[in-house]
Amino acid sequence: MVARVAFPMAIPGLYDYHVPRHLEKVLVPGTPVRVPLRTRRVWGVVVAIVPRSKIRELKDILDARTSHWTDKSRSLIKLYEWMAAYYHCGLGRVFRPLVRKGVVDLGAKKEAVYTVAGVDTGSLSPRQRESAARLAGETGVLTKQQLAGRFGFSDHMIRALTNAGVLTRTCRKVLREPDELRHETSDERVRLTDEQEDAVRRIRRSFGGPSKPFLVYGITGSGKTHVYIEIARTCLEQGRCVIILVPEISLTPQTIRRFRDALGNTIAVVHSRMSDGERRDSLEEIVSGRKKVAIGVRSAVLAPMENVGLIVVDEEHDQSYKQGDLEPRYNARDVAVMRGHFQNAVVVLGSATPSFESFHNALSGKYEMIRLARRFGEASLPRVELVDMNQEHRRGNWTFLSTYLRERIGDTLAGDRQVILLLNRRGFSVSLICKNCGHTYTCPNCSVHLVYHRAGAILRCHQCGHSQHAPDTCPRCRGDQIKYAGTGIQKAEEHLREVFPAARILRMDQDTTRGKGKHVSILGTFADRKADILLGTQMVAKGLDFPGVQLVGVLQADIGLHFPDFRASERTFQLLAQVAGRAGRKDSLGEVVVQTYMPEEPGIQATRSHDYEGFFAHEIDARKGLQYPPFSRLGRVIVQGESERAVKSLAEKLARALRKAGGDGVTVLGPSPAVLARVKRAYRHACLVKAGSPRMLQAVLDAVRQGASKAPPGVKVTIDVDPLDML
Ligand code: ADP
Ligand code: ZN
Repeated sequence: MVARVAFPMAIPGLYDYHVPRHLEKVLVPGTPVRVPLRTRRVWGVVVAIVPRSKIRELKDILDARTSHWTDKSRSLIKLYEWMAAYYHCGLGRVFRPLVRKGVVDLGAKKEAVYTVAGVDTGSLSPRQRESAARLAGETGVLTKQQLAGRFGFSDHMIRALTNAGVLTRTCRKVLREPDELRHETSDERVRLTDEQEDAVRRIRRSFGGPSKPFLVYGITGSGKTHVYIEIARTCLEQGRCVIILVPEISLTPQTIRRFRDALGNTIAVVHSRMSDGERRDSLEEIVSGRKKVAIGVRSAVLAPMENVGLIVVDEEHDQSYKQGDLEPRYNARDVAVMRGHFQNAVVVLGSATPSFESFHNALSGKYEMIRLARRFGEASLPRVELVDMNQEHRRGNWTFLSTYLRERIGDTLAGDRQVILLLNRRGFSVSLICKNCGHTYTCPNCSVHLVYHRAGAILRCHQCGHSQHAPDTCPRCRGDQIKYAGTGIQKAEEHLREVFPAARILRMDQDTTRGKGKHVSILGTFADRKADILLGTQMVAKGLDFPGVQLVGVLQADIGLHFPDFRASERTFQLLAQVAGRAGRKDSLGEVVVQTYMPEEPGIQATRSHDYEGFFAHEIDARKGLQYPPFSRLGRVIVQGESERAVKSLAEKLARALRKAGGDGVTVLGPSPAVLARVKRAYRHACLVKAGSPRMLQAVLDAVRQGASKAPPGVKVTIDVDPLDML
């Protein structure tokens, strides 16, 4: 028997290996295996089993991880193959989450446990006999900790009693689970509203037969989670499994809690802040079928789970579903739709601000639209006020806080309610400028400004992580008048503390949430009302539900609008609508204050009236005119390397190949230097392909894959299908 193996690293192609006798029965396509490759031993994945190979003298497979895949997951291979073809990457790459280092290398965690056998105590010393007597009547299993804690036994004593046959030692497996799964469940069953009930009924009807994906378009606070829970319950009752994708669950432990309360102890989670051991165990629980619900971030859509009946993608518009930096550059939302198709599972996408692609699909009938138009209970959507910061400056207020927002914060705090403030910009100030000669500080490796961070007085590149000490004098003119331009979140925090000295302020951004559990503790503090103001980057916009929050302030709504990206407006609207949704849940009317320099901008205007559909209708015309998604499919080909000449010449060659391959319905733009023209010392040139259909796009991009794999040394080509990042 011969196994065909693919590798998750940058090794293209498939390699044949001989299957040793003892593995013949357990290897199936999908099983991770360790094999010798040149001088190393590496993990790969079996993609096919064949009777013989053209190659003679095959090497043996050394080891296999059968707990990572079962034969019943076979139908998934089709999905993986589709991904490799659609996203133009090697098949092995798609298996990456399964053969991650640290996951394949780990075994199950075991611990020793003891039971009381209570045999002959004749050979014991008096002290040991006295200890043994205390164990009388113990019938359960005891861990070492329990023996130490409850009976005061030392290691030495445990050993002696085991040797004498008083205790019997056995091993048992310990499940490593992340903290979120370790709380007590409470089973409160909610009563769905008519609107929610109706949504559940419609989705339920499609179980069992082939169905279109659903788009649950429901305003913030309309209770989408309860809808997901009810259909998940139905799916489990029918003996099928469930996958629920969420943007980043470690940010919202309360989401998991709600699912666990409702569905019980059958949930495994997958998120970015788990340890390798936790990751391995949750994978095993899923593959073995012991856990029937997988809740996780994007890679959970690839979970080898058999018999999936339902896939939910919550906040389907969220950019974190797209893996942009690593192969496969997939979008988990789109993969979910394909998986549903291959495995005959119901797919439910949900959002208050759907991506234009999904909304367009729902309007055109490709998806089925379900609207949830009302907030639960008496809650209504918050009132949104816009503050024109240009006028504020004209009146002489140059601080980052408008008079109006300052007053509203003051009143809210006086009323003993909480405030969330959003400033989507890390660091203290955006840049340093010498007032004398105008010198600014850019990264030596990248074409971006360095950002000043107050802690440690350093300048940091947010692209490559380069950091250097902030100078006291200008390196060019030796002047000592250095100005900190632009407000970053750290500067905002400092000002806030001056303006509201009595307020308890929390800051939440990438810099304050670096350690394990940091974000949970910040959110916990705020939820427990031990802080008054939560100031954060877009992290605070996501799905949090704090009943104490009365006021949400957006300090600079237009930051994202300046991005040279056709989705800039869509994203700004989504972010503002999401953060606005944090205000005034349950019984109180919330309010939102949006500070902006562009009050007339449609995305910002639409935020005021909570008018997603009006905004969509306005924007979609522009998209159509320029043939951008959802009216076309995009592919981006990026060439990068340290030699600008080599990069440029290959980019031109690839552009010619693209143009030759593309016919009617395909437009090729570029090559031109990318917006981020240089990152980590590498120059970047890009081509953009617009095609009328996914199939056309795939065919055109296939034409450059050859050329891409033959890039000269030091030059790298990446193909990004359906890119979200246009920088
Ligand atoms: P969404 O995800 O649509 O923003 P959530 O599912 O978070 O909304 O619901 C908002 C709040 O309303 C939550 O606190 C939730 O528990 C509550 N809620 C929604 N529907 C119901 C219901 N039928 N019964 C009780 N509480 C509900
Ligand atoms: Zn840099």
